[in-house]
Amino acid sequence: MATERHRSDTDPGDTDPAGRDLDAGAEPHPDEGGGAERFVPRSRSLRTLGAAAESCHGCELYRNATQTVFGSGPRTARVLLLGEQPGDQEDRLGEPFVGPAGHLLDRALAEAGLPERDVYRTNAVKHFRWRPPPGGGRRRIHQSPTQGQITACRPWLLAEVEAVRPAVIVALGASAGKSLFGPSFRVGDARGSVRTWSAEPEAASAAGIAVMTTIHPSAVLRADDREAAFDGFVADLRRAAEVLK
Ligand code: SF4
Repeated sequence: MATERHRSDTDPGDTDPAGRDLDAGAEPHPDEGGGAERFVPRSRSLRTLGAAAESCHGCELYRNATQTVFGSGPRTARVLLLGEQPGDQEDRLGEPFVGPAGHLLDRALAEAGLPERDVYRTNAVKHFRWRPPPGGGRRRIHQSPTQGQITACRPWLLAEVEAVRPAVIVALGASAGKSLFGPSFRVGDARGSVRTWSAEPEAASAAGIAVMTTIHPSAVLRADDREAAFDGFVADLRRAAEVLK
């Protein structure tokens, strides 16, 4: 079963009390599973890639989501911001970073001196992973994607990186870092540092891109001292801006 194939040994996924898979949602499409690779066209036109991603069934997450949320921004951007996955509002609107965390990100980018025209925004996973509240209700509770889902969706990210060819990638949080560097990645070890992304065979053209790691803007929103967290976030983004000089 595709759902099982994508899960790592350390991340069993989620089930409800009756043991049903909460990622399952609607009935699976006949071509579900196996990762996104076979859905990614050869073209590196962002428009073509985004259109193709709309019908991706590379993992089970499309079943519970409203739509694919592909990256957004100019092809000429020098900075690629990599988040985790679309949230509730992004899922409804079909655009990345348009919810509360996105608004905070906009403010932080402005303070860090990174102009809109230089930024492409995307996520490690292109469908919203969520679960209903334990007692029932309409709220959709965010769930981080599993490593298997991050890996399944990675071909879309590699294609976006090849299309945009950014000078620097800003990894916003753990899922972004795991998408680039693998499951052992920890934000605490990497935060604020700039390192080169080691290209893999399938991403040869993406070799040598600087990656700066920071927290996800939603972590700033959750922080006890939000002001201090915001200042630290802006300081990290300034390091990314320095790479461009
Ligand atoms: S999360 Fe990624 S791999 Fe999974 S169905 Fe969506 S676009 Fe495809």
